[in-house]
This record gives sequence, structure tokens and C-alpha cells, in this order.
Amino acid sequence: MTLSLLTMAVALLAVMGKVNLAARRAQLGISLQALGWVLLLSSGLVTAGGWEDRLLSTLSMAGIAVGLGCNAIAFDLWCGRVAVARAPMAIAVVMTAGYCAGFDSYPFRVGWANGLLTLQLAMVVVALCRTPRVPVGRWRWLLVTSLLVQMAVTAARGVLGAFYTELFPNFFAPHPANLLFALAANVTVVMSIVAILLAHRDEAARELERLASTDGVTGALNRRAWLLQGSEMLAHSQRLQEPLCLMLLDLDLFKEINDTYGHEAGDRALKLFVQGMDAVGGERNLICRYGGEEFSMLKRGDLTAIRAYDGRLRAWLTEAGPRELGMQLSYSAGIAAVLNERDTVEAMLRRADSLLYSAKLLGRNRTLDEQALELGME
Ligand code: GH3
Ligand code: MG
Ligand code: MG
Repeated sequence: MTLSLLTMAVALLAVMGKVNLAARRAQLGISLQALGWVLLLSSGLVTAGGWEDRLLSTLSMAGIAVGLGCNAIAFDLWCGRVAVARAPMAIAVVMTAGYCAGFDSYPFRVGWANGLLTLQLAMVVVALCRTPRVPVGRWRWLLVTSLLVQMAVTAARGVLGAFYTELFPNFFAPHPANLLFALAANVTVVMSIVAILLAHRDEAARELERLASTDGVTGALNRRAWLLQGSEMLAHSQRLQEPLCLMLLDLDLFKEINDTYGHEAGDRALKLFVQGMDAVGGERNLICRYGGEEFSMLKRGDLTAIRAYDGRLRAWLTEAGPRELGMQLSYSAGIAAVLNERDTVEAMLRRADSLLYSAKLLGRNRTLDEQALELGME
């Protein structure tokens, strides 16, 4: 088992390449645990009960427990949480200190170390069972299974060592619990490593998905992702017969902004605009950088709600443009409301686009919707 763990530790460090904090913590965790087991085996080679034995055994306990703490941090990060793993780390420190202090009593040190390791494992299991902040794969349950098996054999070793010491005089005693421990340890090492690699892959897939669905400059959804999510949003509104509006917005004379202030200022203006769209609207609006300096948005609610949104956005920009960019930023927009249950996002986009075109013709810096245009034409 130690050999497997060592091989995995070296392999993870050698072949994973440049990795982020979560994977680095997992690498460190596995390496420390491998080192812990090497030290524990080495302690069997020195005089039992001597100072070298105490030193090697204590360091080995520290490696195993701190290693598990590092793994707990990695699991937390992979579940989308801010990771501190304070409790598992605190247990690691307390366990190591108590183990060193009470080393002279075999029943105490075996009971103490395995008892606290069991508690530490239980905490990691509980953390893994909490609902993750990001969608994660089934590696979580593989890991929970592996940790539960480790908990069972660790607890058994603790109880045997502390209370049935004569049956369990040392780590190499041919007791069924030791045999079971060795077998279980081999299996759980493999399970844990597979889970760690799957978690790492999961995270990479999530990041790729994020990159593939957002615009790099503004952080808004890109057209592909927006069309996908927008169709679902529209279908949902149609099923419930709730009103929904689509707005297409185009920054006015943006080419002039680029020409006058430079491309970087243009990029800052695009970012600011999306910031404004987020700031003045509810969280449930679906905002997209449709292309260039054009944005689209789907918003639940009727024309009154989206007109109010438009008013808030214009007021926000009047204030934020000069403050953040040193210039006025204005836009023209067209709004289309859902017609019936056969309406599509594409058809709404076409209607909003032709209203946007009219808004530009009428002199820019205005928003037209289907009703207002009809009123205007009467
Ligand atoms: P109108 O009021 O008629 O919409 O005029 P406009 O200048 O905004 O429209 P036009 O389509 O002529 O120009 C759009 C400009 O947007 C041209 C292009 O260089 C700029 N643009 C598109 N994408 C980006 C970007 O990512 N960053 C910057 N800085 N500029 C961009
Ligand atoms: Mg424009
Ligand atoms: Mg345009």
C-alpha cells in the first residue's frame, strides 16, 4: 500500500503538469500521506520505544493527518467552496502532539491516533456530503465510499489497540483486523486517486464550458450560450403563459469612441455597459454580448417592466459614463415582447432588430418597442 501511495504521489507530481491550487493541495496531501507511511514503516526498523521510534512515528502521524487535511482543502475547492479545512488541520495538530506526548503507552497512542484520524475522516465525509456550490460529478461518492471504508478500519484498529492490546500488540501482528486494514487500504488508495483525477478533470471541463459560453471582454454570455439558455427561458414562459421581453441594444457611434479614445477605452466602455445592465436589472435577466457593440437581453415581465429597466439603465449610464470613462455613453435599442406560444427567440430578435434600426434612423439614443412604434406611426 505504501508503495502504491508513493508511486501515485510521484506520478501525480510528474505528469499532471501545471495545475491550480486545488490540484496542488491534492498532490501535497497524497505526498505527505505517502511520506507518513514510509516513516511509519521505517519506525519498525529502529529500537522499539526508543527516541528514534518516537520521532519517526510522530512525524509519520503528522504526515498522514496533515496530508488528509490538505486533501480536505482540495475537495472543498473542487466543490466550489472557500477552503480552509480548519477543523481537520486542528485535529492533525492535536493528534500529533498528543501522540508524541503519550508515546510511551502503546494502548493510548494507538487509540488516540486512530480515534482522532477517524474523527478527521468523518469531517471530510461530512464536508463532501454537503451540497456543492458548483455542479460536480460522481467522484464525490467514490471518495465518500473510500473514506467510509478507511473510517471503519481505522476505528477498528483504534479500539483493538486501546482495549484489546494483547490481541493487537503491533502493526504487523497477524490479526484479521490488520489483514483487513491492509486489503482495505490498498483498495481505498486506488479509489481516492481515481476520484482525485476525476475531480481534476471535472474542474477543467467546467472551466472549458465557462470559457465556451462567455465573452472574454465583458464576462457576459456569448451568443451561442445565450441562444441555448434563452430558448429554454422562452419555452418556460410560454408554458406558464407569462410575459417575456427581448431587448437588443447597440452602443451609439461606438466607432467614434474607438477612434477618439482608443480601442482600450472602447473595451472599458463595453465592460462598463454590461456592468450597468447587471446593476440596474434583476438577477434573472439573461444578458448577452450578441456581437461587437451589440447586446441582447431576455427579461421576464411585460413591456412596462422592461421600459422601466431601460429608464434605469439610461440614468445609470448618464452618471457612470463621465465618472468611469470620462465620456457620455449612449445606446439605441429595440424591444420585442413574446407574441404567442409559437414565437421563437430568433423571430423576436428579428423584430427587435428592425426596431433598433428605426431607433438609429430616428437619431439614436432611444428605445423603441412594438407598441410605442405603432403609437408613433398613427
Ligand atoms: P451606430 O451608432 O450606427 O451603431 O454606430 P457605431 O459606430 O456604433 O457602429 P459601427 O457598426 O459602425 O461600429 C461598431 C464599432 O464597434 C466598430 C468596431 O471597431 C467596434 N467594436 C466591435 N467590437 C469591439 C471590441 O471588442 N472592442 C472595441 N474597442 N471595439 C469594438
Ligand atoms: Mg453601434
Ligand atoms: Mg452595431
